[in-house]
Amino acid sequence: MSQATNQPVFDVIVSGAGLVGASVALGLADRGFKIALIEPTEPKHSPLPSHDERTLVLNAASLNVLDNLNLLADDLIRVPVRHIHINRQGGFGHLHLHARDHADLIGADTDPEAPYFGQVVVARALGQCMLDRLKNHTNITLFCPQSLTRFIDENHRVQVTLDDGHTLQGRILVGADGNQSPIREQLGLMIEAHDYDQRAMVFNVAAERPMPETAFERFTPHGPLALLPQANGRYGVVWIDQSQRADEAMGWSDDVLMAALHDRFGPRLGAFTQPSPRASYPLIKQHSPQVVSGRVVLVGNAANAVHPVSAQGFNLGLRDVAGLIDALSFLTSDDEDAVAKLGELGDDRLDQALLNYQRTRADDQRATIRYTDTLARAFAHPASFVRLMGGLGLAAHAASSSLTRRLVRAAMGFREPVASLAKKHTARGTHHGHV
Ligand SMILES: Cc1cc2nc3c(=O)[nH]c(=O)nc-3n(C[C@H](O)[C@H](O)[C@H](O)COP(=O)(O)OP(=O)(O)OC[C@H]3O[C@@H](n4cnc5c(N)ncnc54)[C@H](O)[C@@H]3O)c2cc1C
Repeated sequence: MSQATNQPVFDVIVSGAGLVGASVALGLADRGFKIALIEPTEPKHSPLPSHDERTLVLNAASLNVLDNLNLLADDLIRVPVRHIHINRQGGFGHLHLHARDHADLIGADTDPEAPYFGQVVVARALGQCMLDRLKNHTNITLFCPQSLTRFIDENHRVQVTLDDGHTLQGRILVGADGNQSPIREQLGLMIEAHDYDQRAMVFNVAAERPMPETAFERFTPHGPLALLPQANGRYGVVWIDQSQRADEAMGWSDDVLMAALHDRFGPRLGAFTQPSPRASYPLIKQHSPQVVSGRVVLVGNAANAVHPVSAQGFNLGLRDVAGLIDALSFLTSDDEDAVAKLGELGDDRLDQALLNYQRTRADDQRATIRYTDTLARAFAHPASFVRLMGGLGLAAHAASSSLTRRLVRAAMGFREPVASLAKKHTARGTHHGHV
């Protein structure tokens, strides 16, 4: 990435080039906005914090957003999930879901001939697609390696100071700076937070008898274990455990880990071999009810962080991206007259657009956090697990009820109001946008 030296005025300054920050920067830049993108980690030296080996399950709405942003490169490996097996170690209660049984609900949004629940990608590979596009985008100036240290939001302008002392001017500041968001900190926004005292250990393995296109979620007395299908018979493993036990597991030899995985998962996929290096993440819930303050907007994990048990975090962040692009769409037009009228529209309209973004995203953010938190807590308690499995089983067999249809639509990322980028076949193209 190059380092810019002058101090131009940008339409939008995005702080953080993680998966969400990079997506919003590219989406707005494609629509003609002049973007400054700030990121402390230089990818040449080490991968960006979330561009790692973690396996992401993307739902249909997210796939639409990424497709509409031209971020699903032809060489990006995506493995469809057509079957989901959920069960509990050493206990009763299991559920097998097959996408074809729900074709009427999900076929049209995925593949009518062979529907799927979602697709699995490796975060590093998706991040690389984003970096490749960022580097060459004429509307994006990258400030990397640089950090935002503070900002001033005054008179409809935001001034940002970088750690080398340079300042940047913009009309909107987007905080995509992750769980610890320095921007949210500076704003002093109230957050609802919970520390699960759990860590997710992430690695991938080869399985002796892989089951194609099948994802497994197994609930153990220590915490949930997910195996997500990757290419070449490998699985991305998300091993969740109480923090101290997870720290100990990080120190195990590969042989001990493979034996423990087999023990926890059971014999269904045969022996596990060829483990990748491991990474470990603390698990928290964080919800910021207010995500807009003046000209500053929080998106992705800076606004909401969820437990990975439901694979929703990035999916939720991508819906923020789509929602923000929708909110600012009144500024994008190929019609030069419309662009010229912007001066007459004045700044109030932009302030209203940002508040509108906050309003339209609130229900989805709150509901996704509540749903994920319920799952995370239920799976820690055997009795709740059995109740939940009963509920899920009933739901699976009652796919025609309107409640179930709404639930499935929500899991696929289509909770109303659905942003235009989250719909299939959004018209693409480069527009001219100005703030
Ligand atoms: C084990 C695990 C499994 C997961 N599985 C799934 C899944 O299957 N599906 C799913 O949808 N989600 C999943 N998630 C969640 C998903 O990974 C996150 O929601 C997503 O990566 C968040 O992206 P982000 O860009 O908002 O934040 P981050 O990835 O945290 O990016 C923040 C960026 O901001 C930068 N930054 C920090 N401070 C500054 C500063 N001062 N100035 C400028 N930049 C700064 C950081 O360097 C970083 O690059 C999983 C998470 C975990 C931990």
